[in-house]
Amino acid sequence: MDIELIREEFPILKQKIYGNKQLVYLDNAATTQKPKCVIDSISNFYSVFNSNIHRGVHYLSEKATEIYENARLKVQQFINAKSRTEIVFTKGSTDALNLMAFSFGEAYIKEGDEVIVSEMEHHSNIVPWQLMCQRKKAVLKVIPFDDNGELILSELDKLISEKTKIVCVTYVSNTLGTVNPIETIISKAHSFGIPVLIDAAQAIQHTAIDVQKLDCDFLALSGHKIYAETGIGVLYAKEKYLDEMPPYQGGGDMIKTVSFSGSTWAELPLKFEAGTSNFVGAGSLHTALDYVDRIGLKNIQNHEAELLKYATQKLDEIGNITIYGRAKNKAAAISFNVDGAHHYDVGMILDKMGVAVRTGTHCTEPIMQHFGITGTVRASFALYNTFEEIDILAEAVIRAKKMLC
Ligand code: PMP
Repeated sequence: MDIELIREEFPILKQKIYGNKQLVYLDNAATTQKPKCVIDSISNFYSVFNSNIHRGVHYLSEKATEIYENARLKVQQFINAKSRTEIVFTKGSTDALNLMAFSFGEAYIKEGDEVIVSEMEHHSNIVPWQLMCQRKKAVLKVIPFDDNGELILSELDKLISEKTKIVCVTYVSNTLGTVNPIETIISKAHSFGIPVLIDAAQAIQHTAIDVQKLDCDFLALSGHKIYAETGIGVLYAKEKYLDEMPPYQGGGDMIKTVSFSGSTWAELPLKFEAGTSNFVGAGSLHTALDYVDRIGLKNIQNHEAELLKYATQKLDEIGNITIYGRAKNKAAAISFNVDGAHHYDVGMILDKMGVAVRTGTHCTEPIMQHFGITGTVRASFALYNTFEEIDILAEAVIRAKKMLC
């Protein structure tokens, strides 16, 4: 991979901030920057094709529908789903997970049933399940992780019971960087006939995903984490579940017939896509996935693994830095604190030196509770980051440490 050529594709990375500081963008787990091809595809859509999808008989509407449905085919191919009908467009992972908690809950959960999540889930894979459990008087159970940030799978054996209806787990932790052994979790759950939902919000941009090979039953992802626009995401679900689950929202596009004596639902996947969909976002996702395919996920993964290794080494060399998450299998995020300093103060100083990191709980308060902390500084990497940028991060952390400790 020629990183300099890749960086040329991302106009935002060229800018200086605070007058003369080169922007060092290390907040990729929150959202990734967009290559020019994605930005151009959005502009081109509005310049040439803009029209609402599915409902029109005119030229523009047919073109817009074609772009939207081709994007669905691209996603299907990218994650190797069996059928296009298994790809539901959503606003993002959060929307996909809420859809799941509602519709799966309505179809399959009754009083006393149990749902298993993990202690390292993002709030969006906890709170929707809590809401559903409250509604249905069901019970939420939690797979703990150890101090390295690895799930304690022997605990999963103890949690599974005849009341367990679904296991929901993140592929990659946005805070700890842990890559979970989802193959093992899936086969274990399946051996008891329990379906598994994978939150792939932090995996899709770092790792090739084949849903048929994994045999996961559900998978959620966000476009903006993989170089596409915000406001577009995907719920993958096996067709048999989508058939049985009731719609999440009602409105236009998701119905076959409507009358006051009752309504019937559109064919899959439109049954789950009420209202005007984000067709521009879907087109941008298509372009972004083509872009990632051109670079090659394996190349991206190798580059990010080198960056992670280098960043871990640099931070360890500084001394008095605590890194949270030392799993054997990690992806491109590193959470840390400068001992004796508040994560927010460190983040502010880094920002003034041009380095964009995230501070706080990263929407994973249970992880903070596990370690007894209020937050961390998180640096997260993407295909365009460089070793020089990690040197700048390390220098900025040394400076912050001098100022604060
Ligand atoms: N799950 C994980 C692991 C995440 O990192 C995020 C985003 N930070 C989400 C879910 C939610 O994604 P979105 O905000 O795009 O809906």
